[in-house]
Amino acid sequence: MSTLNLNQLRQAFPILQETANGHPLVYFDNAATTQKPTLVIDAINQYYQQHNANVHRASHFLSTQATEQFELARSQVQHFINARHSHEIIWTKGTTESINLIAQSYGRSNLSPDDEILVSVMEHHANIVPWQIVAEQTGATLKVIPVTQDNQLDLSAFETLLTHKTKVLAICHASNSIGTINPVKEMIKRAKSVGATTLIDGAQAVAHFAIDVQDIDCDFYCFSGHKMFGPTGIGVLYGKSEYLNNMPPWQAGGEMIERVSFDGTTFNRLPFKFEAGTPNISGAIGLGAAIRFIQSLDSDARVQHEDNLRAIAIKRACAIPNLELVRQVQPTVSLLSFNISGYHASDIGMLLDKQGIAVRTGHHCTMPLMQHLGLDGTLRMSFSFYNTEAEVHHGFDCLEKILAAEKTTGNDSTPVPVSTLPDINALTESLLAARGWESRYRMIMQLGKQLPAYPEHLRSEQHIVPGCDSTVWLSHTQSNSASETITLEFSIDSNARIIKGLSVILLSYYNGRQPEDILSSNVETLFDTLGLSKHLSPSRNNGLHAINQRILAIAQNP
Ligand code: PLP
Repeated sequence: MSTLNLNQLRQAFPILQETANGHPLVYFDNAATTQKPTLVIDAINQYYQQHNANVHRASHFLSTQATEQFELARSQVQHFINARHSHEIIWTKGTTESINLIAQSYGRSNLSPDDEILVSVMEHHANIVPWQIVAEQTGATLKVIPVTQDNQLDLSAFETLLTHKTKVLAICHASNSIGTINPVKEMIKRAKSVGATTLIDGAQAVAHFAIDVQDIDCDFYCFSGHKMFGPTGIGVLYGKSEYLNNMPPWQAGGEMIERVSFDGTTFNRLPFKFEAGTPNISGAIGLGAAIRFIQSLDSDARVQHEDNLRAIAIKRACAIPNLELVRQVQPTVSLLSFNISGYHASDIGMLLDKQGIAVRTGHHCTMPLMQHLGLDGTLRMSFSFYNTEAEVHHGFDCLEKILAAEKTTGNDSTPVPVSTLPDINALTESLLAARGWESRYRMIMQLGKQLPAYPEHLRSEQHIVPGCDSTVWLSHTQSNSASETITLEFSIDSNARIIKGLSVILLSYYNGRQPEDILSSNVETLFDTLGLSKHLSPSRNNGLHAINQRILAIAQNP
């Protein structure tokens, strides 16, 4: 049996020796982006230190070197996915840009009102929204393959949806939210039988298993460098040359032309026709280095190790009462998605972060799938080959401790009457008196218990604040005093404890004030004083600002 030398492997990733919030970093957010080995970092540095020049155009020493390295990276990608020609590899910013390119170039020039585009309910927004836009532009219809109870693509529904009207099948190779690996080869074969063009979103596949685009016979395949140990800002669109040759350019400018005159312009050959402007040269070279790194590993041992991590995680997860795993059936990539009843995933995610454990919470850019599952999000742990069994055990040990501590401090948030909202100055003072962010954070969580009861009849869609990871309801009443001045009283509720706590701060700050007073106030200063802007995660800060914006909008137009 082959094995990985994990100690040595982990040494190759400098960031894995770092700490987070005072604890050794445990990185379980690999589906969002992977860490980078020294080899990749060095390749980028070396390019800038020794070879930096623009590619293709200039005729000097450095430019020749830069061009050679840049084109070498292209042929490394070609061999990595077994494309027939290197000109079938188009550099993009990432999966999202690759799909937009196909939708706007191929889709826009080939689709018409009677045509159908087939995607699945488990797609990332990057493989939904570009198709919605092109459907709108061309009059084509978007159809959606559902998933079964096992969260696999419903292949019998696929057979029904696949007709001679289907012009494009665009599905992911592996799901970023639930890990399902789809039977793309079989589905492509079926799609070909009705003459459909096929696109595979390989963003979650490339880091986990070998890809052979000739074997699966897709027309397009897309992926991002940063999800496979390479840099951000570089990605790949593979397309069969017979498709790419017949497609119009998407973006226009330098490099993609053959000849420009005001009488007319002719376009460059592949792949340059689709690479307008100066490309991400260091990114491509870094991605080439990432491929060399992946190819230096034993791929069977890598898959075995990742599967083992997932199996351990599932075993530990199943031992936690009230932990609800999103159902998975093999084959899947190495991740698991779950919720713990009584807690919002983002609260648990933040508590794990305090222990140095990086997980992802939320809808993972798959809102339609979450709606189908009846969830507003999950906590996702996604593994890579550099993670260890010890890290998985440590992650679950921490999770169990967090849940035990929560049980002792009480997780219920019994509402209290509105009059008991704390005075904002006293509240600020007591929060500032907390020793360190950790205890201030716990105080904010506890504060959620003082959130006044939210009117049940206003718990409706129109009162939901968009832009929050959790569900947040906000409503208001206004009172006219004898002097005819209006004052506003807001009510907020959320299924996330941290948001309940933050809402107490907001309500204490705003309630009972006049609209003009609200509009001229500056709650951001309070957020800064309390360290919220600095310490809350970006998604929490976005949520807090979304609630604040809604309050300001109401004050603007009470
Ligand atoms: N498709 C899938 C399945 C993904 O997981 C992601 C990113 O998470 C994307 C597309 C978008 O990738 P990028 O943001 O690198 O363009």
